[in-house]
Amino acid sequence: MTLVPSPLVVEQSVSPPVQAWLDTHRETRLLIGGEWTPARSGKTFDTVNPSTAQPLARVAEADKADTDAAVRASRTAFDSGPWPRMSPHERGRIMRRFGRLIEDHEDVLTELETLDNGMTIGTSKAFFAVAMESYDFFAGQTTVVMGHTMPAAEGAFNYTRREPLGVVAGIIPWNAPITSALWKVGPALATGNAVILKPAEQASLTCVYLAELAVEAGFPPGVFSVLTGFGPGAGSSLAEHPEVDKISFTGSTEVGKLILRASTGNLKRVTLELGGKSPNVVFADADLDEAVPFALAAFTTLTGQACGAGSRLFVQRELKDEFVDRLARQADALVIGDPMLPETAIGPLASLEQFDRVRGYLAAGKDGGAVVRIGGDAIDGPGYFVRPTIFDRVDNSMKIAREEIFGPVLSVIPFEDEDDAVFQGNDSAYGLGASVWTRDVSRAHTVAHRLKAGMVWVNTYLALDPTMPLGGYKQSGIGREMGPNWYQHFTEEKAVYVKL
Ligand code: ADP
Repeated sequence: MTLVPSPLVVEQSVSPPVQAWLDTHRETRLLIGGEWTPARSGKTFDTVNPSTAQPLARVAEADKADTDAAVRASRTAFDSGPWPRMSPHERGRIMRRFGRLIEDHEDVLTELETLDNGMTIGTSKAFFAVAMESYDFFAGQTTVVMGHTMPAAEGAFNYTRREPLGVVAGIIPWNAPITSALWKVGPALATGNAVILKPAEQASLTCVYLAELAVEAGFPPGVFSVLTGFGPGAGSSLAEHPEVDKISFTGSTEVGKLILRASTGNLKRVTLELGGKSPNVVFADADLDEAVPFALAAFTTLTGQACGAGSRLFVQRELKDEFVDRLARQADALVIGDPMLPETAIGPLASLEQFDRVRGYLAAGKDGGAVVRIGGDAIDGPGYFVRPTIFDRVDNSMKIAREEIFGPVLSVIPFEDEDDAVFQGNDSAYGLGASVWTRDVSRAHTVAHRLKAGMVWVNTYLALDPTMPLGGYKQSGIGREMGPNWYQHFTEEKAVYVKL
């Protein structure tokens, strides 16, 4: 086992532009109605660099009073402002200006993201590319939010319109804030809604930065607002607010259920992109040179803090030992440490809370009888590092195979044949992603069809494209983001009957 020196991050270098931004943002503000303002209560909280456990900045803590003000401003922007009324071309022009500004600030944004949530700088850049591809997809499609002309009897003219919902709140998690933010803001704006972004309390800074760029891009006041703060507080007051028309949420299944309950007062539209326990299914005929590194990336990307992480690895029994040997060797060679260094593959977990949670699951795996193949423990602080961990001889009924861990922790489970793989893969409360590795084309598609998951990858893992829908079966969510029907969840469909 590799010996890892501790502390892992002695001195972290911060580039001059990021340092300058941090120096001028020791206390961040809320963006409400186009104005930067402290929380009405005056409250702030620390956002912590998980590599060092040191605070990076103090963040404004919005609560109900701020939510009320933001919703009022958004309502005005939507009900009587120009945004939903302007031509889709003009909306697209402002959106593209925002997109160009984001791109121009890539270096600062990606570094700030790494400082705030601990994702490696390489991953931060890779997710930034995904985020921009998605944002460009939305910004380029303001003109395709179409209704239909229906066949009707002579003397009748029947058509449908897609109209914006109104005030949309995007509540996002901390694992990839820029990407999550643009996945909410992009479709909401492209369809003419006003949007309020609620970042996660663990990593708010890049959302504040994005909002500054949005102001520069020239969205009308109140069209784009940011409320930093906690879940109970800023988040719950948005979910309950009678004047918010839709919540687009990404986060845990537990909080997704709370939001769904809180939204019933005015029957908000709710889409939920939630947790997963995604099965990665490897048949004995798989190409191991491909399957092994992808299996590794599937549970270590974002230090395992990805909703689509391939955290249950099912390997056909005759291949299992060889596969695990190769996987363990590759996992052992991963560089753990300062996420700002380009060679680092495993950064810290994003918060102390997450660190404690993952350590709890490491203990649960051992207590439950799984065999630690590599890793299995945390690394002494001050940062929140754990070793990538492979649990062998896992049974699909164990706690570590049933619950989402959100850390670099893999459960390896053998299977006998196709039916067994499908049965065990589907034996989960979740259904976000799934993957199948085989050289047999028929089996690849058959298994892809039988797995109950919103996204199935064949001979690859975690591929994402905004042209494809993203979302989950079962307790992994409600609705889809992106894909060909991307605007359905951000618009109402109106039927217009005309008697000629
Ligand atoms: P994770 O498990 O990834 O930390 P959570 O589901 O806890 O994610 O949080 C995701 C987002 O939901 C964050 O922005 C958080 O502040 C927010 N949130 C947490 N609790 C609530 C709540 N009761 N109502 C609304 N939003 C909440």
